[in-house]
Amino acid sequence: MVQTVKTKVPAINIELPEVTIREVRLGSVTNFSGTAAELVELSQCGTLKDKGRAFSQSTGCGSGNAFCQLSGIRGVVVINHAPIGCASDFQSFDFINRVGLSDFGITDYNGRFYSTDLLEKNTIFGGIEKLKEAAREIFAREKPKAIFITTSCASGIIGDDVGAAADELSREFGIPVTPCICEGFRSKLWTSGFDAAFHSVLKGIVKPTRKKTNKVNIINFWGSRIFDDLLNELGYEAQYIVPYATYEELEYISEAAATIQICSTLGSYLGAALEQLYGVPEIKFAPAFGIKGTDRWMRELGRVLDREEQVEEIIERRHREIEPKLNEYREKLSGKRAYVTAGAAFGHSLSSLIQDLGMTLVGASVYHHDAFYDNGNTESDALANTVEMYGNIPNYRVCNKQIFEIVNVLNKIDVDILIARHPGIVVWGAKLGLPTFIMDDEQFAFGYKGILNYAEKILETLDTIEFTKNLQKHARMPYTKWWLEQSVDTFTIGGGSK
Ligand code: SF4
Repeated sequence: MVQTVKTKVPAINIELPEVTIREVRLGSVTNFSGTAAELVELSQCGTLKDKGRAFSQSTGCGSGNAFCQLSGIRGVVVINHAPIGCASDFQSFDFINRVGLSDFGITDYNGRFYSTDLLEKNTIFGGIEKLKEAAREIFAREKPKAIFITTSCASGIIGDDVGAAADELSREFGIPVTPCICEGFRSKLWTSGFDAAFHSVLKGIVKPTRKKTNKVNIINFWGSRIFDDLLNELGYEAQYIVPYATYEELEYISEAAATIQICSTLGSYLGAALEQLYGVPEIKFAPAFGIKGTDRWMRELGRVLDREEQVEEIIERRHREIEPKLNEYREKLSGKRAYVTAGAAFGHSLSSLIQDLGMTLVGASVYHHDAFYDNGNTESDALANTVEMYGNIPNYRVCNKQIFEIVNVLNKIDVDILIARHPGIVVWGAKLGLPTFIMDDEQFAFGYKGILNYAEKILETLDTIEFTKNLQKHARMPYTKWWLEQSVDTFTIGGGSK
């Protein structure tokens, strides 16, 4: 059994103008090579240390992750105080939000996002007046319920006082105008941007509890409404946050009966904050992926919602329902070798699922690793849970999407299928002749039904072997033979990460 221990994580303080970055708050790292068990041990005994890279091919930006959450809130405007290039993620999240909104049955809402288009002269003379001017025009045009101002490397470096400007504009407009301090250079972990967005939502929108409700917050990316049936059966109502919630719904997420997270990497800060500040209990167990993981998560849900007997009934029924198909899939998938690349908690959850299907997990590359979560409880540690339930994972890497490292590893191990969370990685599977699928809807694999969904998808993907082998013949690999023969840690400062 995973030990339930409280680790020392700073208490949430929404009076602070900005959230402390993950490296400092959660001891997070972006570079590690070894086994999953070694990483769990280093994290739990507090000796995990990050190592830099002498060469880095790519990275992500926290501002994009902050925008990913704020841009989906209905009724608010997001102003990106930045050069126009930082707004490149507007189009991708606008597209994702349109698809997601229509899946949620919302067809009459468009997001409103603006950039202050900081120019070279603004970086010399300051950009605050430009920000205020833009905000006044936007307020007159859109009449939003609230405005969020996301910062950028440029506004951060020149020291624009976005907080003071937001206070002034808030008084002038009579609505919350809240800065979201998320410039890309603040943190090596782009997931710090999620925390920055939630810090702003907590500061700018969420109000103290009036009365408790039967709603259950679901901290979510996009995906489908998979919690409705389960929670309705238990006498509760799912409230999906933050994307697609209205301003008014977010005001009182403090009144919910509990908080569920679809991914602990995403929801760590908000889940812990709602519990610490407003007493909303957080389901702390790692999300429900794989049979054993779903059983544990369901039992914790039953305990928190006071529905333990009902949950036991559901577990028994669902096991019965999926068993015949699951056995069939296990037979077909037994011994197939999979490699996973995904964000931290989601990657760990997928690792459990693969092993539940009787497959062999030959390695994983997750984009970062949080040594612990904001609730300080090791039950939330999806990797520790995976190792405990299914055993160690070899070739376990923490690698912030450095493709040259991922290709190096995949070139050295025997893999039947590559499962990736993000589209940028999938193309490399194809170039290497590996059947590959993108796991972009995190709800797809969640819970008991998710196990069957996932098995079907894996079987379909394995059938593409001829196609991918053909693609490989015509693909040009930019990496030289020399690089592919080197140790993957060649550019890690000080060598391997252990
Ligand atoms: S905030 Fe910085 S890292 Fe992010 S997109 Fe703008 S310049 Fe790039």
